[in-house]
Amino acid sequence: MPQNSRKSSPNPTASQTPAMRQWTAHKAQVGDAILLFRMGDFYETFYDDAKTVARVLGLTLTARSKGDNPIPLAGIPYHALDSYLARLVRAGYRVAISEQTEDPRNATGVVKRDVVRVVTPGTLTEDNLLPDSGSNNYLAAVRADGSELGAACLDLTTGDFFSMSGGPAGILAELARMHPAEILVPEQSEPSEAHVADQLHDLAGTHLTRRPAHEFDAYHAERYLHEQFGVRTLEGFGYSAIDAPLCAAGALIGYLKETQKSTLTHLARIRPRVLTEHMHIDPYSWRCLEVERTLRLGTAEGSLLAAVNRTTGAMGARRLRQSLRFPLRRPQAIRDRQEAVADLHGDPRRLGDVRRLLAEMCDIERITARVGVGRCTPRDLRVLGQSLARIGELGERLQDTQAALLASLLEGLGDVAPLADHLLAALQADAPLTVREGGIFAPGVDAELDRLRGIGRDGRQWLARYQAEQIQRTRIPSLKVGFNKVFGYYIEITHTHRELVPGDYVRKQTVKNAERYITDELKTYETEVLTARERSDELEYELFEALKAHVAGYTDALLRTAHSVGTIDLLAGFATLAAERGYVRPELVDQRIIDITAGRHPALEAAIGPDFVPNDTHLDGDHARLLILTGPNMAGKSTYIRQVALLTLLAQTGSYVPAAAMRFGVVDRVFTRVGASDELARGQSTFMVEMIEAANILNNATADSLVILDELGRGTSTYDGLSLAWAISEHIALGIGCRTLFATHYHELTELAQLLPGVRNYNVLVREWPAEGDHGERIVFLHKIVEGGTDRSYGVHVAKIAGIPPAVIERSREVLRQLESGLSRQSLREVLSGTPASPQEQLELFAVQDDRLRQGLLEIDIDRLTPLEALQQLKKLQDQAR
Ligand code: ADP
Repeated sequence: MPQNSRKSSPNPTASQTPAMRQWTAHKAQVGDAILLFRMGDFYETFYDDAKTVARVLGLTLTARSKGDNPIPLAGIPYHALDSYLARLVRAGYRVAISEQTEDPRNATGVVKRDVVRVVTPGTLTEDNLLPDSGSNNYLAAVRADGSELGAACLDLTTGDFFSMSGGPAGILAELARMHPAEILVPEQSEPSEAHVADQLHDLAGTHLTRRPAHEFDAYHAERYLHEQFGVRTLEGFGYSAIDAPLCAAGALIGYLKETQKSTLTHLARIRPRVLTEHMHIDPYSWRCLEVERTLRLGTAEGSLLAAVNRTTGAMGARRLRQSLRFPLRRPQAIRDRQEAVADLHGDPRRLGDVRRLLAEMCDIERITARVGVGRCTPRDLRVLGQSLARIGELGERLQDTQAALLASLLEGLGDVAPLADHLLAALQADAPLTVREGGIFAPGVDAELDRLRGIGRDGRQWLARYQAEQIQRTRIPSLKVGFNKVFGYYIEITHTHRELVPGDYVRKQTVKNAERYITDELKTYETEVLTARERSDELEYELFEALKAHVAGYTDALLRTAHSVGTIDLLAGFATLAAERGYVRPELVDQRIIDITAGRHPALEAAIGPDFVPNDTHLDGDHARLLILTGPNMAGKSTYIRQVALLTLLAQTGSYVPAAAMRFGVVDRVFTRVGASDELARGQSTFMVEMIEAANILNNATADSLVILDELGRGTSTYDGLSLAWAISEHIALGIGCRTLFATHYHELTELAQLLPGVRNYNVLVREWPAEGDHGERIVFLHKIVEGGTDRSYGVHVAKIAGIPPAVIERSREVLRQLESGLSRQSLREVLSGTPASPQEQLELFAVQDDRLRQGLLEIDIDRLTPLEALQQLKKLQDQAR
């Protein structure tokens, strides 16, 4: 959290006003949170809070009790709370809200106030405070357990709550993809806890909150969890003891109790999450694959998610994001989804109907969560009723499905029609966002409410009659009875008729051209009407509380409905995508292969359409384990190797894939490492980063993994880099044997194919044409991957396209020619494959440096040289050599 440099703190003294004493007590309760203290129409902040708030929100900093000890003060108008709150939370602050809990008019002494909630990034529930409806908003906690870590995560906006355990790297990888908004760690964190928290902060911008260590102990966990779930043991959820992950879960509940001060009805269960059920992707690889955002610009546009998202609502969008973050590994689970997609895909008309119904659904999950914390609005429940009313139709439309998964989702939709009827009958069609100003309930819901409202309604007739009587009595035809919020009811008489005003009229207000009056009768009426209004607002509030409690009774059923709707949206989205973009159903096989015919990169294809050149891939655990891909820069190597990873990832979500055909065996982990240039900006040495990533792969990849390497060894001198790339490739091909694609500019690596089994060479087709009126040739990238190695790197051509001046290009061509003639490829291969090279050959490796001298020597025409010239030349060469 940002800190203030100069402290200005309260100094509690007897001279403090009662309100400031109250403030001081509340401030002490909420720790480092900013305290918004309700005073009339404002939420006031004082001291350092005021300075922070003024700075972050751009408000004017003023002072309370001017004089010797002015108190810095900044206020937020109460009706603008949400927008200011959103900005403070987004800026990384925790914000406590102290409300007036009694009507100031009834207060004797200082108004009673209470801290009603502490708003933190991980505990938001309101749509306008949450950053994105298509993302979960996780709150996480970690606790060390020897060399392992236990972690728990919950999304207060959906009720999703689970625990997991594993090594620090594994837990970090899971958490990094979940992108928690906030993470809780014990105050004196163990190194592994602190490491995960720091990494998450760096990778995902997660907000870090330190909590007392005892909040993470087993005693607290047991108490909190048993109480929350209303159980005596957690065995029913699949736990045998209160272990580290459950301690973390207990810390989460403790934190929610402290900050929310509300019910948490929708957190009704916790599940152990088994890491091996999902494809594992480490944080670095995750970023490289550009699943949620692009590497260079960090935008959602251009990502895999943006390219494949055809969901119609927020629940489906969240499921899709989660599916991409955690692709499946169990073949049956993948097949179940594929079957459901096929079922939806097979009937385009039905698919269209289903999607139209889905598009009308509100965010049932988040509304249920707001019911769970008691913060839903009348409008929430009205739109919930409307959505639930369509659930039956959705079920009917899918009734004939042959897919087992869809059938079970239909069951999960449940019978929510009675609740829908209840809500729609109870609530006004234009139910408001607030609960204190009435207008919530439909007529006929409550007799007393109808009676109170009647007083106001009949009032209109009463007023009309009263006005007519007064006109008759005073003989002022223009006399009007009116109402305004500040002055209440009045009789308005223009100045022209001033002398006709009866004696019992009491003057109330002067306006342009007229006077306003009140009479006893009008006053009595006003009190009655206003009281009725107040009573009816109050009654509606009470009725709404009761309605909330009624809906809370359906929490479980609603969350199941939401889950089903979201998953159907996910599957219908996949089916739509397949139809729109010509994706096909990949065939899942029990072999370590990835066999793709005419595959396309989903995001690039979405951007360039038919210009995309499809490519085949054949990888297997045997003859084609490691594909070495060479070719010029900008030819399409990175695109190609990422495409293979993305198609595999997509296939393991159950989606169809952009290809003419695909067969694959399940991948347990995906590793990617791409040219480390973007890491330079993060202040790490490129080569160091490269080697850390390579070590990660060598240590963790299994025979079932997929490894994508885009350049390796670039960050060091050529021979170092080449040797490392060589040795790493050897180890992957022989030691691990996993499916691997390696794009490299070291065309020397193509020699590996002749030395090792299972290594194959590919390159990108390039066409060269002589360019008119220019030196050299023009090249055209065909983006077509073909078998075989290349022995050229075309870097000079790319430099030319990029606008490097012609003289420099010419010179580099010359140097390239010299290098190519000077460097013996035979000798290099021997050096790298372990066969000792002769001293002569080793010397040749360094021929580059000698080349200018040699050139000079060769240029001397001995037949025509005078002895003096010979001496001079000799001196020149010696100087050069020096
Ligand atoms: P490399 O890794 O070989 O330097 P990239 O994969 O970065 O090349 O591709 C360079 C550019 O070529 C990309 O920006 C993309 O627009 C284009 N490209 C790559 N592959 C294809 C393809 N299969 N079809 C059409 N354009 C492609």
